[in-house]
Amino acid sequence: SKRVAILTSGGDAPGMNACIRASIIACQKANYTLLGYKHGYNGLLQQEYIPLSLDSTHNLIQQGGTILHSARCKELKSHEGIKKAANNLMKAEIDTLIVIGGDGSFRGAAEIGKEWKGQILGIPGTIDNDISGTDATIGYFTAIDTAMSSIDKVRDTADAFERIFLIEVMGRNAGFLALNAALSSAADYVVVPEFFESADKEIEKIVTQIKAQRALKGPVSFIVVVAENVWPKGLSGLTEELMKHDISDVRPVTLGHVQRGGSPVAQDRLLATTLGEFAISLVGSDITNIMVGEVNQRPVTVPLHKTWENTKPLNEAHVEAMRTLMNERYSSW
Ligand code: ADP
Repeated sequence: SKRVAILTSGGDAPGMNACIRASIIACQKANYTLLGYKHGYNGLLQQEYIPLSLDSTHNLIQQGGTILHSARCKELKSHEGIKKAANNLMKAEIDTLIVIGGDGSFRGAAEIGKEWKGQILGIPGTIDNDISGTDATIGYFTAIDTAMSSIDKVRDTADAFERIFLIEVMGRNAGFLALNAALSSAADYVVVPEFFESADKEIEKIVTQIKAQRALKGPVSFIVVVAENVWPKGLSGLTEELMKHDISDVRPVTLGHVQRGGSPVAQDRLLATTLGEFAISLVGSDITNIMVGEVNQRPVTVPLHKTWENTKPLNEAHVEAMRTLMNERYSSW
């Protein structure tokens, strides 16, 4: 019988618990022992783990965050750290290590794979969706939903005061979350890294658009969704730029960590459940150093290094729809 260890690492995401739950149940059925390392890779380095059994699954599917806790772990970025992790896995007689996290966590897992002969399986869990080889990542759908409802609420007050709002949405260095939040909340403009050329070019388009709308309709609300880490100096930088074009009375809103929390929506629970179940089905096979993912509704395995070496493009249909939404306006976006 196999000994499987699971951990959650990096930015937490809604649905990580649903994935742990599915893994517990699948392990129980296959008669595997499942251990949970706590606090991401820190638990692995401190040999801090708990047994996971059916007792732990009650109400778990609907809980945000992760019962194993997540963390960043500096020590694992050193060779000594990797050696220690490999050694601890050996000492705990682990056959399979499952890492739920983002590309940083997968890089760590791949490094451990060079020092440890056991099986390593990654499961994509991040609200950013910035992992190549899977259509979606666990947590992404919930984060879109949270950002969308927040923007809906900002729109109410923006409409009431006929004001311009700048709303910063998470996504690390990718525009998935910003684009989809903007599209589903009918924002007037979105700034994403994939199409960002320069602040000068972008500001020109935004100003043209605001002025065109105001010339047509008088004072109206205008919502610009901005992906994090794109605009130089963030929302305050953009506010300053708008001031230079005589557009003042702008309100910045940073959605922040609310986007990482909350009970997962159905789509994240389903993805988390199928990926957890699929990962456990691979335990004991010679498939290793891979991430499990879902492409066109089918489970797939992808070599870990490809998940960060390849860049995942934005959904082309979503891009087209956003272009139409920002319509008349520009051909260049
Ligand atoms: P995410 O998994 O959400 O992308 P991070 O990028 O913060 O989150 O990575 C999570 C953890 O993975 C880091 O704190 C570190 O322990 C480990 N990690 C990231 N990059 C590497 C690397 N190149 N080598 C070893 N470990 C890494």
